Amino acid sequence: MPCSDPNRLLMPENTVESQKSEVTREGGCSCSRHRFCCIATPKTVFACHCKECQKMSGSALLVWLEYRPEEVETQSQGILIYSRKGASGNRVNFFFCGACGSTICGTMEGRPSLFLTAGVFDETDWILPGAHLWKGSAQKWLQRSAGTLNVF
Ligand SMILES: [Zn+2]
Ligand SMILES: [Zn+2]
Repeated sequence: MPCSDPNRLLMPENTVESQKSEVTREGGCSCSRHRFCCIATPKTVFACHCKECQKMSGSALLVWLEYRPEEVETQSQGILIYSRKGASGNRVNFFFCGACGSTICGTMEGRPSLFLTAGVFDETDWILPGAHLWKGSAQKWLQRSAGTLNVF
């Protein structure tokens, strides 16, 4: 595991100037060929309802957690990249597992951040989106079904 060394957070080269949190968050794709560990709290957390996030998730939205690249340690095999121009005009890159297809993270042209998807974290109870983006393209059924679903 990327975070398995108990001394790694004590090493000066691994400290991050704004977040010296000792909380680590781990996660990985469905088949575990890709595993990661975050050594800081995310800068932002947001839910994106744009069409591209709907396509990449096969669902209504993707929740993204923004980290500095140096705050995320990875062990990966067979990661594939899908790159396209986003709705904003900037190029966006989606990284997904070539074996199981899980959408793991993304990067955006002109922004030096690594965006991890919420669903690939092992524990997710702590995740709380601070904003919802692209509400204009949000799936109508998401609102319509709120409170009316059978619960199992
Ligand atoms: Zn996988
Ligand atoms: Zn999006």
